[in-house]
This record gives sequence, C-alpha cells and structure tokens, in this order.
Amino acid sequence: MKQETKCIQAGYVPGNGEPRMVPIIQSTTFKYDSSEEMGKLFDLEASGYFYTRLQNPTNDHVAAKIAALEGGSAAMLTSSGHAASFYAVFNLAGAGDHVISSASIYGGTYNLFHVTMRRMGIDFTFVDPDCSEEELEQAFRPNTKCVFGETIANPALTVFDIERFAKAAHAHGVPLIIDNTFATPINCRPIEWGADIVTHSTTKYMDGHDATVGGCIVDSGKFDWMAHKEQFPGLTTPDESYHGITYAEKFGMEGAFITKATAQLMRDLGAIPSPMNAYLLNLGLESLAVRMERHCANAQKVAEYLENHEKVAWVNYPGLPSNRYYQRAKKYMPNGTCGVISFGVKGGRSAAETFMGKLKVAIIATHVADAHTCILHPASSTHRQMSDEELINAGVGPDLVRLSVGIEHVDDIIADLEQALAAV
Ligand SMILES: *Cc1c(COP(=O)(O)O)cnc(C)c1O
Repeated sequence: MKQETKCIQAGYVPGNGEPRMVPIIQSTTFKYDSSEEMGKLFDLEASGYFYTRLQNPTNDHVAAKIAALEGGSAAMLTSSGHAASFYAVFNLAGAGDHVISSASIYGGTYNLFHVTMRRMGIDFTFVDPDCSEEELEQAFRPNTKCVFGETIANPALTVFDIERFAKAAHAHGVPLIIDNTFATPINCRPIEWGADIVTHSTTKYMDGHDATVGGCIVDSGKFDWMAHKEQFPGLTTPDESYHGITYAEKFGMEGAFITKATAQLMRDLGAIPSPMNAYLLNLGLESLAVRMERHCANAQKVAEYLENHEKVAWVNYPGLPSNRYYQRAKKYMPNGTCGVISFGVKGGRSAAETFMGKLKVAIIATHVADAHTCILHPASSTHRQMSDEELINAGVGPDLVRLSVGIEHVDDIIADLEQALAAV
C-alpha cells in the first residue's frame, strides 16, 4: 500500500459486522475466565490485554498504523512526545551509560537529555550535526548506547544526515534513533536510510488539529541486539522482573525493543495515552498525507514570498534553493519538508513585535505544525528572559520569527503577512 492508503487503512481491519472506525475501548481492565489464562499474560506467554497502563487495544491499532507508515516492525504510543524520546533512550541506556545526540534538536529534548537524564546518571555528548568525521568518531565511547537526531530540527530547521549518522552508529555497534516529528513518514522514512528507531511527537502534524498531546516510538526490527550482547544487557539477558524473560531471544529483532519498553517502562513509568486521545490521533492520521502536501505547498509559496520582501532580512526554509540544507532536503524529502519557516524582520526586536501585533490570520501560539497558521516571536515569549546577546548566542536572534504555515488558503496567509509587514 502507498502512504496515502496506509493513512486510512493500516492498523485496524474490522471483521464482519464490526465497527468501521477504530473503537474506543475506554476500559482500564479486561475480564478473563480463569486465573490461569490471566497468568499467561503476566508471563508474556500469551498476548492479550489486562490493564490499560501497559496496553490498550485502541492505542495498539493506532500504533500499528504509525508502524506501517514508518515501515517498522512494532510501535507503541506514549502520552507525549517527550515520553517517547525518554523511553526510546532509556530503553537502551541507564546510569553509567553514554549517548550521542545532535546538538540541533528541540529545546525540550535538549533539557530532557542535558538536565533530567543526566541526573539519572546518563552522560550525553552533543555534536554539531554537520561536524567532521573526526569529531563524530571522537564522540563515541565504549559505554555509548545510541545516537539521537531530528530529521528536521525544531526550530533551527537543520536537516539531519541520517545515512551518515546511521553508518557511524552501526560501525560502533549501536542503533540510531531519529525524531521524525517535523517531516512525518509522509515526507521522510528514516528507517529506509538506516535509522533503527523512530520517535514522534504526535502532538504536531500527526494529530494536526491542536487536539491531543501524544507520542510514538517505532522500531525498525532491524537492529541485531544479540550480535551486541554485551552492549545491551537489558535486551539480551534475563529480566528478573518478568520471570527471567530475555527479550531479544523470546521476541526476536522485530519485537524485543517495543516489548521491553511496554513490559518494563510503561509498566513502571506509565506514560500511556488515553484511548480517547489515541482515537483522536487516528482521525488526524487519516488526513496526514493530504495535509502534509498542502502544508508544504503553502510553506514553499510563503517562503518564496518572504525571501523577496524588502522588509524581510533573511528566511530559513529547507525548501528554498538558497538554503544551506536544500540539497540534503531534496535527498531525504523529495516531496517537501514541513510547514515551518523562520525569518527575520528588518529592524530587529521592535519591528518583529510591531509585525506580530498586526497579524490576523496567523495566531500567536507556542505551538507549531498543525492545521492553523501560527507564529511565535521567541525573544518576547519563550526566550524573553534572555538578553539580545544571549539570544544571538543561542541561535535565536531578537528578530527571529517562527512561522508555522497551516492549511488555510495560501493567498489569505500571504495577504495577512503583507498587511502586517506594511505596518513595520
Ligand atoms: C514538540 C516536540 C517534542 C516534544 O513533544 P510533546 O508532544 O510536546 O511532548 C519532541 N520533538 C520535537 C521535534 C517536537 O517538535
């Protein structure tokens, strides 16, 4: 099936007389006829549901759709994108371990890694995604457990060289994890370029309507854990909390990673989405392919319009031939990148503030990547505690405006920008 068809059909196939739409199984618990049958589930001897903190059928149907879209072997939903990033890394690395991450990632993920996960005893090395081979080689240590990057970084819009980082990770016997939130599997499938695990904040384009916070982890099923037995004892040696099951032996390359993340991390940490939210996410996924096409077409026109505007100092959008990542974006995302653009208004902070105040179609919100066009001036909102000098050092200059182009008619979006720029 093509991606467009998978958006509609994958993950849930109703039987005779069953509901056409993924049913919302809004139940914490599931009934069994005997304790023995239930016991088999606890031992992971049989598959089935017993408690929604671990697994729920609605969630699993929706996860299966995302697995199909990414070309993976298994997937799990989480209650947020952050939970997905955390679980994906923590499923491999613990106290005393080390992780390599691209320095150009979502600020929230940077905090999660650099502050919170460090407090758990995991060390991180942040590398420039365009670093030299030598620098990348030097980042690896004997206790490195994985490499992490974002297909298109939020908000820097850096395009990550997935193939290059996959090769480096595999040469050191560790998997590559890719946060594919901004590209979505419609525009890029990291597994085809060598990524082993893919994460998502489904809060963005996948949900697409500002309705539900959520996340997802997809496993490619291609990483051979048993070939690196010493490196990943959590997957290759018995789990005493699950009656001595060895995940990589019992569930193979296709199932080990997600089963461990479910049986251990979801059981103990519990970041499960509600079935209702999974249902809403599924509604978003059904139109993902058509929405992404429109987001990209609109953003391309808006980026070209801004680039030619005399009051605009600079535009950053990987779909522009003038962009540093244009060629790389064409390789990984031949059909388009995403709807997010950043640009600077001539006149710095005050010009940006005047411009923002005049907008009518684009709404001011701290969100990105959904149907509604929205805009943010980090210097006067998310980063307002920083001085102009600090902002420049952080790569978020005082004039930077982040525009998330929605799926309204592009003429209305451009007319809105036009009248607001006229006021500057
Ligand atoms: C928003 C975002 C996250 C965090 O996701 P939440 O759903 O807000 O927890 C992670 N990665 C990227 C690229 C994001 O844009």
